[in-house]
Parts: sequence; C-alpha cells; structure tokens
Amino acid sequence: MKTIGMIGGMSWESSLEYYRIVNEAVKERLGGFHSAKCVMYSVDFEEIERFQHQGDWDAATEVMVDAARRVERGGADLLLICTNTMHMMAEAVEESVDIPLLHIVDVTAEAIHARGQKAVGLLGTRFTMEQDFYRGRLQDRHGISVLIPEEEERKVIHGILYNELCLGEIRSASRDTFRRIIDGLAARGAEGVILGCTEIPLIVNQEDYELPLYDTTALHARAAVTQALD
Ligand code: GLU
Repeated sequence: MKTIGMIGGMSWESSLEYYRIVNEAVKERLGGFHSAKCVMYSVDFEEIERFQHQGDWDAATEVMVDAARRVERGGADLLLICTNTMHMMAEAVEESVDIPLLHIVDVTAEAIHARGQKAVGLLGTRFTMEQDFYRGRLQDRHGISVLIPEEEERKVIHGILYNELCLGEIRSASRDTFRRIIDGLAARGAEGVILGCTEIPLIVNQEDYELPLYDTTALHARAAVTQALD
C-alpha cells in the first residue's frame, strides 16, 4: 500500500471527512484491521482565509508549496490538496515536489464521464465558481460544460461556506438555500451538480436528490485509495 499525502486544514471540518473516507475505503477493499497509510499536514486556516480574501495568492501559494514539501518529507507517495479552491495553485504545488498530485478536477471529471454526463452545475467558493482554474480544466481538458449559479446566489453560497460550514455550523435554512440553488441549476439544464467545495457534503446529501451530485471530498479521497492500492 502506498502512503497517501494530504494537505488539510481547509477547513479541518472537511479534512476529518478525508481521514474518515480514506480509512473506510481501505477497510472496504482489504477488510480486517486494515487502515490507510497516510500523512496529513494541516495548515492554520485563519492565515489561508486571510490571504484568499486579500487576494494575496502569492502568499497562499507559498504556504501550499511549503505544506506539500512537508507532506513529501513525511513519506507520502502521492499528494492530495484537500480543498477545491486551493487547486488554484495546483501547478506550483506539482512543480515543487517529486510525488504525483491527484487533481480534484480530474477525479471529478472521471465520475461525470462515467455517468455519461456532459453539462453539470458547479457549487463552491466564489473563487472556484468564478475563476478559470476549475471550470477551465473541466471544459478544456475534459470537455464538460459548466453552469454556475447567478451572481447573488454565488454570494450567498460563499457566505454559507465561510461563515457557517468552515466553522462547523450546519443550519437547516442553508440546506434549503442549497436545495433552491441546485433546483435552479437543474432547471437551466444541469444534468448533475458538482459539490465543488469539500464542506458542502456536510450539508447536502445525495439521498435528498434524484439528480446526481458529485461529492468532491468522497471522490477525491476514494480515488487516492484506488491509487494507493494499485
Ligand atoms: N474547502 C473549501 C473548498 O473545497 C473551501 C475552503 C478553502 O478556501 O480552501 O474549496
């Protein structure tokens, strides 16, 4: 079994999920007392969140590159950045280490293709929904068209992510807000919806929807296990 490396803490609420899922997936595959060999370096999210909202992406990149090197020194054979948003600096991270980076967009695109879908909605932070690093990769590398919520809805989602979910707060009013926005994306032609923020699966569950939801946390963590056990 290879050792899975993770850059976590963005937020730790979702890193807990990564840790749980990689261990569950190894147990499903190998049974008995088996658990995942893994190394996580967890950042201080206060620092990252400040850099993000100041638009200081260079400083944020430095923290990610430093974290990736620490994970590699810790003995990891492959690397996950346990957040969608911070894939903005995926290339810089990839170049700074010798171990392979498992990109969250590629893993998600594979799941979308497996269902034969071509047009999906995307929910995430404003950075993820609005900038090109995420949608561009889905569209250009994977041929998947991406719909995003309207401006006002994007602001609302961003607020729920940073003011509630990243702080561990789950409110039923926000669950209803996601429902309305997901239904709106479906009405505009989305065949499925990417939960493109690793905290969204804490509040939005597939059981409540007929439309396929792409849980990036679970897809990413499970793909890492597949790679670790190959
Ligand atoms: N976990 C979130 C994501 O997947 C947001 C936190 C962050 O800004 O990294 O994008």
